[in-house]
Amino acid sequence: MPSRPSGRRPSAPLAEFRLIDRLRRRFGRTTPSVRRGIGDDAALFTPPKGRELVLTTDLLVEGVHFDPRTASLEDIGYKAAIANLSDIAAMGAKPEYLLVSIALPASCTTPQIVRLYKGIMDACRPYRVGLIGGDTSASSDGLFLNLTVTGSVPAGTALMRSGAHVGDLLYVTGTLGDSLAGLTLLSPAARRQPSLPLSVRARRFLIERHRRPTAHPLLGQVLSRHRLASAAIDLSDGLSGDLRHLCAQSRVGVEIVAEALPLSPSLRAYARAYQADPVTLALQGGEDYELLFTVPPAQERALLRLTQRRGRRLTRIGAIRPAAFGVRIREAGGRLRSLPITSYEHFRRAPDRPAQPARRRQS
Ligand code: ADP
Ligand code: MG
Repeated sequence: MPSRPSGRRPSAPLAEFRLIDRLRRRFGRTTPSVRRGIGDDAALFTPPKGRELVLTTDLLVEGVHFDPRTASLEDIGYKAAIANLSDIAAMGAKPEYLLVSIALPASCTTPQIVRLYKGIMDACRPYRVGLIGGDTSASSDGLFLNLTVTGSVPAGTALMRSGAHVGDLLYVTGTLGDSLAGLTLLSPAARRQPSLPLSVRARRFLIERHRRPTAHPLLGQVLSRHRLASAAIDLSDGLSGDLRHLCAQSRVGVEIVAEALPLSPSLRAYARAYQADPVTLALQGGEDYELLFTVPPAQERALLRLTQRRGRRLTRIGAIRPAAFGVRIREAGGRLRSLPITSYEHFRRAPDRPAQPARRRQS
C-alpha cells in the first residue's frame, strides 16, 4: 500500500485498540437483534424467526485480487463488500451483518484504513448491513482483507445452483463484460496509449462499472420469495465459467444465444475501438456481479410482472437443455458451438500486465 506521511500508524496494541474503537464508533451498528457487536469476544445476535442463516466470506489479497496503484482504498473496500453481497443475493437472501478482518502492512495509516471501511460501508448502507466485528493483524507483505457477510432467507426458499431443469429459461440482470473492459482501460498499458477512439463517456462508464459494480440482493429476494427462479448464481468469474458451475450442479446442459447477450453501448464502442469481439468480452469478463438465474416457463409472466415494476433490466439469454447437449452458444449465423471451458480470471497475471481482451480471430 502507498504510504501517506500525513497519517498516523497503528503499531502498538494501544493503537490497535484505538483503531477498533474508532471503527466501532464510525461504522459499528447495533439493532435490537444485535445484543453484542464490536467490543466483546464475539458478536451475539438473535437470528430471525423461521429463517435460515446464510454465510459467505471472501478473502482479498493485495497484488492478487487488487492493485492499489489502479484502485483507491474506497474502491477496494466497496468491491469487497459487493462480492459478498452478490453471493448473498445469489442465494435469494437478505444481507444482514458484516465482519471485517484486516492484515495491515507497516506503512498503512489510520486514515487509509478508515477510507477502506468507508468504501465497504458505502456498499453496505443501502441494505442496512451492520458491522458487528472482525479481526486486526499486522502483515509483513501487503494488505489482506477478509469480509464475512451474514444473511437470512425464509426456511426452504434459498436459491441454489443445483435447481435448474430442462426447459427452464435462462435470465441475466444488467449488461455483461463492462467490468473487464473497465479493468483493461485502467491498466498501465492502456494508459500509455490514450489516443484510442473511445469517447470519454464510454470510458468513464466502463471504468465505473469496474470500480463500483452493483449487487442485486433485492432482486434475489424477489426471486426466492415468489419462487420465480429454480436456480441462481452470481457472475463473478464470467458468464462462461459461472454458467458451467450452474449446469454442473444442476446436471443439465444449456443453449445460450449470442445475439441475446445484453451488451452496453459503451462495451460495443470499446469492442470497436480495440477490435475485440464483444461476445467474447461478455462471456469471459469477470466481476460483473450480475445475477444469472433459471426460470420455469410457467413462472416467466410472474417474473416479468414482479420485476418490471421495479424497472430492472432483465434479459432472457437462453434455455436449459439435457446434460448431453453440453454448454453451447448459438452464434449469429445460427451455428452452435461449445463454450470455451476457460473463464476469465482477473489477476492470474502480474498486476502491471493486465490481460488484453481476446481479439477477434483474423480470418
Ligand atoms: P480478540 O483478541 O478476541 O480477537 P480483538 O481485540 O481482536 O479480540 O477484538 C475485539 C472486538 O473488536 C471484537 O468484537 C472484534 O469483533 C472487533 N474487531 C477487531 N478487529 C476489528 C476490525 N478490523 N473491524 C471490526 N471489528 C473488529
Ligand atoms: Mg482479534
